[in-house]
Amino acid sequence: MLSRIRTPKEQWDFIIIGGGATGIGIAIDAVTRGYRTLLLEQSDFGKATSSRSTKLIHGGVRYLQQGNLPLVYEALKERKLLLENAPHLVHTIAFAVPGYDWWESPYYGTGLKLYDLMAGQTKTARSKWISGKELADLIPTIEKEGLKGGVLYYDGQFDDSRLIINMVQTASDYGATLINYMSVKALLKNRSNTLCGVLAHDEETAEQYELYSKAVINATGIFSDLIRRMDHKGAPQTISPSQGIHIVLDKSFLPGKAALLIPNTDDKRMIFAIPWKEHTLIGTTDTPIEEISLEPKPRTEEIDFLLEHISRYLKKKPKVKDILSVFAGIRPLIGSIDKASTARVSRDYKIDISESLLISVAGGKWTTYRKMAEETLERAIAALGLKHLKSVSRNLHIHGYSTKASLYGTLKDYGSDALLLENLIKENAELSKPIYQSSEILKGEVVWAVRNEMARKVEDFISRRRRTLFLDARLSRLMAPEVARIMASELKVNDSWINQQIASFNKLSENYLP
Ligand SMILES: Cc1cc2nc3c(=O)[nH]c(=O)nc-3n(C[C@H](O)[C@H](O)[C@H](O)COP(=O)(O)OP(=O)(O)OC[C@H]3O[C@@H](n4cnc5c(N)ncnc54)[C@H](O)[C@@H]3O)c2cc1C
Repeated sequence: MLSRIRTPKEQWDFIIIGGGATGIGIAIDAVTRGYRTLLLEQSDFGKATSSRSTKLIHGGVRYLQQGNLPLVYEALKERKLLLENAPHLVHTIAFAVPGYDWWESPYYGTGLKLYDLMAGQTKTARSKWISGKELADLIPTIEKEGLKGGVLYYDGQFDDSRLIINMVQTASDYGATLINYMSVKALLKNRSNTLCGVLAHDEETAEQYELYSKAVINATGIFSDLIRRMDHKGAPQTISPSQGIHIVLDKSFLPGKAALLIPNTDDKRMIFAIPWKEHTLIGTTDTPIEEISLEPKPRTEEIDFLLEHISRYLKKKPKVKDILSVFAGIRPLIGSIDKASTARVSRDYKIDISESLLISVAGGKWTTYRKMAEETLERAIAALGLKHLKSVSRNLHIHGYSTKASLYGTLKDYGSDALLLENLIKENAELSKPIYQSSEILKGEVVWAVRNEMARKVEDFISRRRRTLFLDARLSRLMAPEVARIMASELKVNDSWINQQIASFNKLSENYLP
């Protein structure tokens, strides 16, 4: 990848800034249309918002309640495509909505019938009313006192950062160049004041590159306004950042297969408790914030809010000491800032093109990344007068596509790559051993991640190639030294790299402990 950007003055069709769901979605759409495509990410792929979601591929029951039907309709169409194109990572999951008042089940049930109707022909099962007993069978830990009944509906669940990595591989399989730890420091303009490329800075070696393209796309999420200001110093603020946190508990708090939707929190939102990777994921909050960062910190009041709300619905009341990991993400919401509440700021996305032809796209949802990408390219092609090549991303299989992934046991998230990974592990008995005694993750997976998934730091493996930091922060600390040792041998770096990586991972992991 690096050798491709070292060729001086080579011209790309598109340079995309930002390696989250939006940017990588655009890279896939562009390269599969036939454009020469380069994507630059300042940190690791998915490091910012795209690895910190609630892990739902959904129409958004909440947006239905708010009456934003076009958004729900579009997201449900994309849900269907993702279930078809990445079946190894996206699957359906049942959600139970409990009703403790007589009116709740009919009210939510009717809304969810509309949700079914809007989803159209899909393999996802239809919603139905269930009795209190049926609900308690599905969610054995539910507070039964006063439970009248409930509604069961279905939505999509996925592993966000694994999908990101497979999306990077998809774009790469079709010939795109995608580089992590390469930040854009400035935009290059020609004499007519039109953008013609970017100045990139290699975060590992400090080398600088002038890279030229016909179009530059800003897909930097919460950082979008910083790039707009590289284009035009006085560009106004467009992003209203809003923080959402999740807490992770062990499986005993939600031992069944179904998730729980709590339909009306004190701040008039919804929260979810979801079985995720043999743990319980609970979220999220919606807190307007002013400071944006790649590593946002959960606030004590957000943790208390989630514990308080989930405790109203579960017999077993979780405490701070039960939290295995807590993580925060920042939504790149589009719209004016209301310091009191971002809960009603639109989840729609916005594409705009500046006078010097910087194309910026932000907002939206993970679920709609493909549609955002397709539309961004249509707008960019028209604005720049490029030869129109048709989008083919609708029916494009994502790298790792497999309908039999569950057969690969603990390697199932790798999809069809699990077979290649198994072959790698067979080469050396040491690679089949677990990284740490109680971990199901194998040493061979670290080697695989360095060779095939562009993992460059200990954090890249433990947080985003595997999800241990997000599931159990203490266990992830125990794994770090062995991960560092294996990575160092693959990357051919010395002991001081190992020590520096362990120290920086330990510091990072403090953010994930309550
Ligand atoms: C708490 C929470 C829960 C959510 N849950 C869901 C959900 O369940 N389902 C759903 O559909 N959506 C969900 N979302 C929304 C979804 O996660 C986001 O819409 C999506 O991840 C945004 O992706 P992005 O690529 O635009 O931004 P990001 O993922 O933030 O990517 C932007 C990238 O740009 C890079 N960058 C910035 N500046 C530069 C530079 N100068 N040079 C190079 N790179 C740069 C950053 O490092 C970053 O990686 C949730 C969001 C939050 C916060």
